[in-house]
Amino acid sequence: MKVFDLITKKKNKKTLTKEEIDFFISGVMANEIKDYEASAFLMATAINGMTIQETYDLTMAMANSGDVVDFEGVKGPIIDKHSTGGVSDTTTLVIMPIIASLGVKFAKMSGSSLGFTGGTADKLQVFTGYNLNLTQQEFKNTINTVGGSVITQTKNLAPADKILYDLRNKTASVESMPLIAASIMSKKLASNADVIVLDVKFGKGAFMKTQKQATVLAKTMVEIGKKAGKKVSAILTDMNDPLGSGIGNNLEVKNAINVLKGKRNNLATVSKKLCEQILLLSNTYDLKTAKKAINDSITSGNALLKLQEIIRSQGGDDQIITRTELMQKPKFTQFVVAKKNGFVNSFKTKELGYIVSGLKESKTSKIIKSDHAVGIKLFVKRNTKVKTGDKLAEIQCNSEEKLLNAQKQMENVISIGKNKKTKGKLIQAIIK
Ligand code: URA
Repeated sequence: MKVFDLITKKKNKKTLTKEEIDFFISGVMANEIKDYEASAFLMATAINGMTIQETYDLTMAMANSGDVVDFEGVKGPIIDKHSTGGVSDTTTLVIMPIIASLGVKFAKMSGSSLGFTGGTADKLQVFTGYNLNLTQQEFKNTINTVGGSVITQTKNLAPADKILYDLRNKTASVESMPLIAASIMSKKLASNADVIVLDVKFGKGAFMKTQKQATVLAKTMVEIGKKAGKKVSAILTDMNDPLGSGIGNNLEVKNAINVLKGKRNNLATVSKKLCEQILLLSNTYDLKTAKKAINDSITSGNALLKLQEIIRSQGGDDQIITRTELMQKPKFTQFVVAKKNGFVNSFKTKELGYIVSGLKESKTSKIIKSDHAVGIKLFVKRNTKVKTGDKLAEIQCNSEEKLLNAQKQMENVISIGKNKKTKGKLIQAIIK
């Protein structure tokens, strides 16, 4: 077999066999297929697509290119959830304690922020001392004893994805439905939970700009997961606005804590819907009992107590859960105010994510503690009525230079119009 022939086949819109796809991934892993060959293959795929069977074969080859988590000794079902990435998207910190408080096991490997999106691994570091690098045995022990754990992705989790993602990033082939689906699902399948619930985002603050694209991606990922023997469902959610009222690690952790204390908002709505899907797929609940169990977990305070227990069990300081005023404060703050009367019509949500990432001092994935305090607090939502001078947002940061920069960038990020605009439903569909 020659990689040249595989590239030619894809260029000519032909379908690749499992053997050819396995050959490609093992060649990439063994460094026998060079970067320029792999890049040509990826570009041909980005242009001509793949069938579901090809996408599944690619996903499995990538999932098996490294370690597959072994949950031997953990009584399942084990749950994982994944968001395709958004802004102020903190659902994991809400879902994990709710699910664990109901006796259902939650196990997730999480990444750091990617581009304009935040990462759960970063947010968990707000709890000083939280150890994201448990060994597999410690991970399993924690899941068994407290019911939930989030750790960082192991180095050898779907390593083929790391290589291919890097090439895609450098050669303009990130935006490809089969490549995105295989990239996400290879990591999910190597993480090896029994139940996978996906939150597929679309809109101005998401990788998928339209609902149509998000639907195709969700359907593809659900089908791949099912073919691999997992229970999978996906919800399609609107990411035209930031999900919570703050962007940045401390602000987002506070938002999650507030939902666990009973606050009702968009973050609560999406988190509860994902919890419902998890409980339904875990087979112990129907929709009515799932909704009740989720609400009871919050109103009884059990979910909040569970979050404290999970954070403590991984060495994190849980004091800030009950005393959020102990969180580190930003050195500089500045309000962004409305320049005219009207209604908030839209947010440039992706830009908001990038502005917050520009407020941080950390240049690598190693986070500087003071960066948790930076962010943008939002006082308005779409269709909020405002008058000239009303506060729209607050920039929170640690350097005057970054504050000035962010002030300029914020000028056109929240648009105000004369009239209200109709907006779509927050949760558009459930795909099973
Ligand atoms: N997230 C991933 O893990 N992979 C992609 O290709 C896109 C988003």
